[in-house]
Amino acid sequence: MEYNILGNTGIKVSRLCFGSLTIGPLQGRLQIEEGANVVCKALELGVNFIDTAEYYNTYSYINRAIQKTKIKDIVIASKSYAYSYKGMEKSIKNALKQLGVNQIDIFLLHEQESLLTFRGHGDAYKCLEDAKKKGIIKAIGVSTHCVEMVRRAVHIPEIEIIHPLINFKGLGIKDGTAEDMLVEIKKAYKNGKGIYGMKPLGGGNLIKSYDKAIDFVLEIPYISSVAIGMKTEEEVQLNVMKFNKEEIPDSLRSIINNQTKKLLIEEWCVGCGKCAKKCPQKAIKIINGRAVVNKESCILCGYCSGYCPEFCIKIV
Ligand code: SF4
Ligand code: SF4
Repeated sequence: MEYNILGNTGIKVSRLCFGSLTIGPLQGRLQIEEGANVVCKALELGVNFIDTAEYYNTYSYINRAIQKTKIKDIVIASKSYAYSYKGMEKSIKNALKQLGVNQIDIFLLHEQESLLTFRGHGDAYKCLEDAKKKGIIKAIGVSTHCVEMVRRAVHIPEIEIIHPLINFKGLGIKDGTAEDMLVEIKKAYKNGKGIYGMKPLGGGNLIKSYDKAIDFVLEIPYISSVAIGMKTEEEVQLNVMKFNKEEIPDSLRSIINNQTKKLLIEEWCVGCGKCAKKCPQKAIKIINGRAVVNKESCILCGYCSGYCPEFCIKIV
């Protein structure tokens, strides 16, 4: 496994980052022990970097994996949507407690879109800066699906880490193409920002072009690590082999080839529209009193399911 230092932070991470969204209640809904085993498999195979978020609800899986493994120096990145100082304080406390750690390596403002949204979260970011001064967090920054946020972040010294969405088709980028995003990623990297990408497989939409999609991100020299969501030990093995440029056996490939993912909205949807309001891709519309998903825009992130009061959205 190749390791890189994230920008000017001194934090050393594996090129492959374990994206934990997939094991948790928004997607795979694995049992804690089962999910922890998948995380442990990644750690055993050289992955030292785990991406999570308060909203993913996967801290308990990671806590269990940390307890089970003998491997030390695991780098954890989390994120919060908090916009107030107190809200972010609560998010940090919650992360420390549920992860069972005294320090979090990376903490980000979740899904920032522009300078305007970043400024709107100014108090929360101040809290991150203070937590960093106290040594509770090592490095701070933003995650984003927007080219504009990366463009702005380049010039904000307090942002040390950027976690942008990037894949060869630009699926999920809200305000531009993959090429546009790459231009800004390069500038950010040259300005000393630590960059780790997300959704190289477009949330599963690019799974049929697995090699092309992974080769694309691995050839970008400005991205130190790439988070990929995994929910089985076989998927971990396959991704590790791919990142290590090893020959992948057909048996593992067939797992990927047979994979399909889709968003299912159960028939008891009451058309309240809460999911539509929260979808980062604006992929849901309420038609005739029911939520309807535009498959072209949906990146299968599963975020909408956490907002449904009727528990009727699933990624299957
Ligand atoms: S939040 Fe749930 S119940 Fe409301 S519209 Fe969306 S799917 Fe239907
Ligand atoms: S519809 Fe749901 S799964 Fe699809 S992009 Fe929107 S939030 Fe994500």
